[in-house]
Amino acid sequence: MASTTDTPAAGARETHGFQAEVRELLRLMIHSLYSHREIFLRELISNASDACDRLRFAAIADSALLAQDPELGIRIDADAGAGTVTITDNGIGMTRAEAIANLGTIARSGTREFFRSLSGDEQKASALIGQFGVGFYSAFIVAERVEVRSRKAGAAAEEGVRWESGADGDFTVETVTLPERGTAVTLHLKADAKEFADAFRLRSLIRRYSDHIGFPVRMRKEGEASLEYEVVNQAKALWTLPRSEIPAEDYKQFYQYVAHDFTDPLAWSHNKVEGKREYTSLLYVPARAPFDLWQRDAARGLKLYVRRVFIMDDAEQFLPLYLRFVKGVVDSSDLPLNVSREILQQDPEVEAIRAGLTKRVLDLLGRLAKDEPDKYATFWKEFGAVLKEGVAQDQANQAAILPLLRFASTRESHDTPTVSLAEYVARMQPGQERIYYVIAESLAAARGSPAIERLKERGLEVLLLAERIDEWIMGQLDAFEGKRFKDATRGDLGLGTLASAADRTQYDAELKESKGLLKRIKDALGERVTEVRVSERLKESPACLVLGENDLTEQMRRILAATGQKAPEVHPVFEINVGHPLVKYLDAVSNPAEFTELAQLLFDQAALAEGTPLANAPEYVQRLNRLLVRLAAPAAPAA
Ligand code: ADP
Ligand code: MG
Repeated sequence: MASTTDTPAAGARETHGFQAEVRELLRLMIHSLYSHREIFLRELISNASDACDRLRFAAIADSALLAQDPELGIRIDADAGAGTVTITDNGIGMTRAEAIANLGTIARSGTREFFRSLSGDEQKASALIGQFGVGFYSAFIVAERVEVRSRKAGAAAEEGVRWESGADGDFTVETVTLPERGTAVTLHLKADAKEFADAFRLRSLIRRYSDHIGFPVRMRKEGEASLEYEVVNQAKALWTLPRSEIPAEDYKQFYQYVAHDFTDPLAWSHNKVEGKREYTSLLYVPARAPFDLWQRDAARGLKLYVRRVFIMDDAEQFLPLYLRFVKGVVDSSDLPLNVSREILQQDPEVEAIRAGLTKRVLDLLGRLAKDEPDKYATFWKEFGAVLKEGVAQDQANQAAILPLLRFASTRESHDTPTVSLAEYVARMQPGQERIYYVIAESLAAARGSPAIERLKERGLEVLLLAERIDEWIMGQLDAFEGKRFKDATRGDLGLGTLASAADRTQYDAELKESKGLLKRIKDALGERVTEVRVSERLKESPACLVLGENDLTEQMRRILAATGQKAPEVHPVFEINVGHPLVKYLDAVSNPAEFTELAQLLFDQAALAEGTPLANAPEYVQRLNRLLVRLAAPAAPAA
């Protein structure tokens, strides 16, 4: 039944179009990927290994599935003369319907993000292929035609399927007779990819990329017409070996296999827990964020094994969300083999493992920060914003998370977040009781915030923050090593003994002198402010806005508004710098209209300086223009 017929019978050959996304992907594979072309082998071996894993798992419930051919493995055959490579496994196999669905569409969501994230960077593209779960299509990087023959475990020999495509928009399937269970993928190599039919090259690639998958990969013995096969990889699940027997190189290689990544990991932690609870974990911190780190439905989690049997990918229950960047394997001796995602969600055993693994990762990061600060800086750049979520998500581990945070600071001239809280505390001024910080729309805006002018002048360090989640995170923080956190734009600065007696006297004098001015400004601004105060914050700027301890910031208000919630109105305190020439000038203005105009101008400027959009920008511009006109013609009468 292998040939085309006019009446569509069960075994008939059919042509199917690829899903649009697949077509786009194939175009990319064929026309733009020239570096790292060898990844196709890693991906196809990884699929073969998955297929073996899945059969082993299915055979727990139905041992007949394995019966005839119990030893699971992978075979690679190369034919340099014909220019072909075939990857064969005796794993779970596919039915005709499965071949159509699995090899014609992309199951995972987020395809568009994948393409967007590529932006013509082919290096990145080849690294992303496996992570994205489109590994099969990487065959077309080196092949002009791909044939897949597959027979599902448990199906009859006549129920085999042959799938074929030249990547030109469609593929064909037909029902064929196959004597053996499993899948064989044959690549007809492109003219410029014949090197991959070379046995020597293939062996070295297998050792490089697939050494530690849990199944043997076999190739024909070297020598002319040898029909015997030999195992070319280690075929031992890496995490089951004792640490002392594993060279760093092998750890790195295994990472590349689990993470489908090309770069080396920054660090790893391999542990065996014994006793009441038994499990082994091998956890990696990658050096690069995946493209979908911020995608809500992105796959995350560890590969789960139970007593060496692969159970599932992306078991997300073993790590908290804020550690979603961690890759690796967990192998439990206590969970049942038929464990499902639903069970994992409630199992107290899983809960305990998760607590243990969380500690391991935090420890690992702590060690990295201490011993290899350069690597830690890379980590923070890639994943700092994710780890930060832990401050709010994981109160229990806050003490371990806080020392891992890094900040930009007024003490550093660069904007790279490098300052730790320990460093901050170590260089606090005598008498300083608070850890000051300011959150703004950008680090530049934070650095230039009028609210921290005096702090800077006194040499008090201020941490600078500008990420979306910072406000939420900082709101959860109470103290570090007994020092309370203080948002420099809110309430009293809490200078305590830092404010000298002389400062106090001066402040009191200014306050006394300014009573009248403060009242006039309050009258001019009316509802817009709760209070007008003499500032202890300002040095260069004439005025600034200060929120109450619990007022929502502009940023939060916007987030609430975006989600359709009504944010309560905020009326800030308006602080003025009575030493500033503009304020002195204002004090001397007697014309009420001119006074109001100037006071409003100061208020709007203070809002602008902290990055708040003006409610009525044209009005502000008109006011400013009127002032400029007066300056240009000083003799003209005011108003
Ligand atoms: P992923 O492996 O991430 O699911 P791939 O593009 O590599 O994505 O493979 C797509 C699907 O094709 C697999 O999920 C699997 O269902 C099927 N498949 C690919 N290769 C094999 C194989 N050797 N045996 C059985 N099924 C396979
Ligand atoms: Mg795959």
